[in-house]
Amino acid sequence: MIDTHSGASATPAIDNGRITVDLAALAANWQRLAGMMTNGAACGAAVKADCYGLGDAPCLEALWNAGCRTYFVATPQEGAAVRRHLPEATVYILNGLYPGAAGFYAANGLRPCLGSPDEVADWRNAGAPLPAALHVDTGISRLGLTAEEAASLAQNTPLELSLIMSHLACADTPGDRMNQAQLARFRALADLFPGVPRSLANSAGIFLGPDFHFELARPGIALYGGQASALEESRLDPVVTLEVRILQVHTLPKGAPIGYGATFTAPRDMRVAMVAAGYADGFLRAAGSTDGKAGAEAWLAGHRLPALGRVSMDMSAFDISEVPDDIAIRGSFVELFGRNVSVDETADRAGTIGYELLTSLGHRFARRYVGTPSQHGERS
Ligand SMILES: *Cc1c(COP(=O)(O)O)cnc(C)c1O
Repeated sequence: MIDTHSGASATPAIDNGRITVDLAALAANWQRLAGMMTNGAACGAAVKADCYGLGDAPCLEALWNAGCRTYFVATPQEGAAVRRHLPEATVYILNGLYPGAAGFYAANGLRPCLGSPDEVADWRNAGAPLPAALHVDTGISRLGLTAEEAASLAQNTPLELSLIMSHLACADTPGDRMNQAQLARFRALADLFPGVPRSLANSAGIFLGPDFHFELARPGIALYGGQASALEESRLDPVVTLEVRILQVHTLPKGAPIGYGATFTAPRDMRVAMVAAGYADGFLRAAGSTDGKAGAEAWLAGHRLPALGRVSMDMSAFDISEVPDDIAIRGSFVELFGRNVSVDETADRAGTIGYELLTSLGHRFARRYVGTPSQHGERS
């Protein structure tokens, strides 16, 4: 049955749209990445932001059953949710340690990625209740100890480290010089902490090759079917499909405008489907079109449907001129992205990336999880 945690209805007749998550594809993607690991490296999973917007309970269960044992989230709240679902998992908090929060981490079995001397001191002063990761900066300049801070800590490490990690800025561009520069800096810093397992690669980093694998990888987007880098092979199986309902079908006569601002004018008589997804649902406003600029494309029955005019809060318009009249009808569903139009293509048409589209998906869609035995159910 449909998971209704998102506020969507369990009554298909009133669904505005539905997000279908293929848990078998998610599991297969994790196994594929785990199979790429070299020299016995392990593969974890980045499951922050509710598993990139897909829903943590079913996704975590699928990843655990696929064999994943180490999880990375952004916040302590997210970590506590992973802990509730997976009592035996190793859980790292990428945002680091919040002041005064060590007790919460300890109570929930969460390991902070300590990213500054203050965080190291706070964790130690709290009795270092669990092993922690040390986050070193090698060039992205977000979080993490500087080389000097890491060197000074290495003189006398007052706590148990279970991981040393850093994050790549340009892994999605394999030829970027930043990658080799960060790799060299990471090696040098990790050498100061002999015996501590190392982690550098996100999804795109895995595809940079064995040098980047170390002891543990932390893929996110590739698991969820987004293309991780410029390399074609970094696009694994699609996991998410978004389909939305046609509210109304009508004719737009040549010369007539459509939508707010009248930014698009029909160059010929057109058939139009108004569908129930707008920017309030995470179908980004930038996905619309004007007379001068094409927008995103939806898909129905083998046909691409160009977006027409601006995306509104609750709806958007698509050209269904090519689709037979008996198929594009009120109440049927069009695919906004999924197997036929990739999430990356739709994101690109809106000037963004698959990550933002997935994590923006609104709460007015029903969600269903397929590709796993019963528990989360299937509506066929
Ligand atoms: C989000 C994140 C990841 C996963 O990145 P993807 O590009 O989604 O594979 C890994 N490491 C850190 C530090 C992150 O913030």
